[in-house]
Amino acid sequence: MIYDHILIRYGELSLKGKNRKEFINQLHENVRNQLKKFPLIKIHSSRDRMSITLNGENPTEIISICQRIFGIQSLSLAIKVENDLESIKAAALFALKEEENVHTFKVSVRRANKDFPINSQELNPIIGAHLLRNTENITVDVHQPDLEVNIDIRKAHTFITSARYLGAGGLPVGTSGRSLLLLSGGIDSPVAGYLAMRRGVKIEAIHFHSPPYTSEAAKEKVLDLTKKLSEYGHDINVHVVPFTAMQQKIHREIPYGYSMTVMRRMMMKISQIIASRLGVLSITTGESLGQVASQTMESMHAINAVTSYPVLRPLITMDKSSIIKIAEKIGTYSISIRPFDDCCTIFVPSAPKTKPKKDKVEYYESQLDLKNELAELLDNIEVINISNQDQENDPLNDLF
Ligand code: ATP
Ligand code: MG
Repeated sequence: MIYDHILIRYGELSLKGKNRKEFINQLHENVRNQLKKFPLIKIHSSRDRMSITLNGENPTEIISICQRIFGIQSLSLAIKVENDLESIKAAALFALKEEENVHTFKVSVRRANKDFPINSQELNPIIGAHLLRNTENITVDVHQPDLEVNIDIRKAHTFITSARYLGAGGLPVGTSGRSLLLLSGGIDSPVAGYLAMRRGVKIEAIHFHSPPYTSEAAKEKVLDLTKKLSEYGHDINVHVVPFTAMQQKIHREIPYGYSMTVMRRMMMKISQIIASRLGVLSITTGESLGQVASQTMESMHAINAVTSYPVLRPLITMDKSSIIKIAEKIGTYSISIRPFDDCCTIFVPSAPKTKPKKDKVEYYESQLDLKNELAELLDNIEVINISNQDQENDPLNDLF
C-alpha cells in the first residue's frame, strides 16, 4: 500500500460565505500553477477541501511546495479506497504504522455518504479495535492523541489520512486585488510584500534605481528578492525607474534637511502614476514606525499627502527583530544583506529632518520644476518579468 493522494484543507477561506467559490477557484489555479512541473498529478477541488491525485509523482516535494501556497491550512498524505470496510481497515492500519513515535491514537470518522451502511459512531470502535489488535505498545487516547487517523467516507470513495503538515495560512493570492510594492534591496520591503501576498494580494513591484550611483549588482539583488517572493505566489513584474536625474536635481535645489522628504514624495507620486496606469488600487511599503527619519509620524504625514491611494504598510508596528525573523524564514534575508547601496541612502543628507513640516515641504517643492525629469523618467521605465517557475527544473533548459 502507498499514499496515492494529498488532501489540502482550506484556511480562512472556509469562513467566507459567498466568496467561497471564487476563493476555491483561485486556490485551485494557484496550486496548479505552482505544481506545473508535475505533469501527472490531477487536482480536484470541492467545497470543503482539495485533493491531488499523485499518479506516481513525488509527494514530499509537492507537499513542501504546497506549504508555501497561501490559503492552505494544512495538508495530509492520503490513501483513497473503495467504500468497503476491509479496505478502510487496511488503509487505516497503514496510515498508523507509517508514522514514527506514535504511542497513542484516536480514530475520527466522517461519513458524508449516508448510504454507507455503518454510521460513524459504530465505525469508530471497529477501526480502533482493528488498529489495537494489529500493533504493539499503542493505546487509544481520545483527548490528546499523538496521531489522529481520519476516515472520510465520501460518495464514491473513502480517504484515509493521519499526519498533518502545516500550511502557510492566509488567503489565496489574487483574491484581494493587486498592489504596487515599493521594493528596495533592504530587509523590510520584501517582508512587506510577503505579508501582503499572504493576505491574498497580487504584487507588482517598483524599484527606484540611480545608476551610476547604484550598481547593476544592486538591481540584480532586487530581482533576486523578487524571484524569492514569486515563489510564494506568481510571476512578478518589476518596474525599474531611472531615478538619477530627478534625485540629482532634488539634491541640488532643495534645502538641506528637506531633500529626503521631497525625494520620498516623488517616489510616492511616481508610484501612484504607475499604479494608476496598471489599474492597481494600492501601494505597499516596508515602512515601520520610528525606524528611520522617513518613518516618523511627521514624515509619513508629509510623504503620504501626495497620494490618494491606500498605502499598505504591513510592518508598521513591527520591531526590526521580528521583521528579520520573517525575512529569514521566507529566505529573503540572505539576499537583503548583500552589501549594495540603495538610491535612498546615497543622496540622503547626514541629518534629514525627522519632523518635516508639510507646509514647508510643499513650499520648497513649488519652487522646483521637475516636469521634464518626470516625463523623461516615465518614458524610460524598464519592466522585467520574474517567473515563479524553478528554472533549473525546466525541462526545456536541457535543449539549449
Ligand atoms: P527596506 O529594508 O525595505 O529598504 P528601510 O528600513 O531601509 O526599508 P527606507 O530605506 O527608509 O527603509 O525605505 C522605506 C520604504 O521605502 C521601503 O521599505 C520601500 O518600501 C521603499 N523604498 C526605499 N527605497 C526604495 C527603492 N530604491 N525603490 C523602491 N522602493 C524603495
Ligand atoms: Mg532601505
